[in-house]
Amino acid sequence: MEEGREHIRLEMESRSSNEEFARVVAAVFMSRLDPTLEEMDDVKTAVSEAVTNAVIHGYREKCGTVVMELTADRTERSLTVEVTDQGTGIEDIKKAMEPMYTTDRSGERSGMGFAFMEAFMDEITVESEAGCGTKVTMKKYIGR
Ligand code: ATP
Ligand code: MG
Repeated sequence: MEEGREHIRLEMESRSSNEEFARVVAAVFMSRLDPTLEEMDDVKTAVSEAVTNAVIHGYREKCGTVVMELTADRTERSLTVEVTDQGTGIEDIKKAMEPMYTTDRSGERSGMGFAFMEAFMDEITVESEAGCGTKVTMKKYIGR
């Protein structure tokens, strides 16, 4: 355990209902960094988008496991969120991250999930391999 760092790992079934749970857990966990309500809302939105993507696109609403890891660094006052699935993976990450890009055919999705994650967090990295899964890592600095 590193000094000034706190970490939790939440493993969930890939159910849409767990999106809210993950969002609340992230908000409660980050409260130890004394964020503003706005910073908290930003993180909640980003978590919601990432977990929803894992459930809907990663596992196509079939059963699977979504893992959310949270790390709070008190020294630099940052929160790192990692959302991992072992679902379908993304073939072209760059394209997937473009605003308005979606593979959804139902017309329900607007392709703005990654755009929101980028807008509301300070850093975002997406690692993915088709057929293996996806890991989204996002970082937010508090008080900047
Ligand atoms: P919205 O988020 O606005 O409802 P969306 O989910 O399609 O729509 P993004 O969240 O930006 O938009 O994702 C863009 C595309 O990236 C998705 O349509 C999907 O093809 C792919 N994608 C995103 N996350 C994953 C994931 N975890 N596993 C597989 N594919 C993903
Ligand atoms: Mg999305």
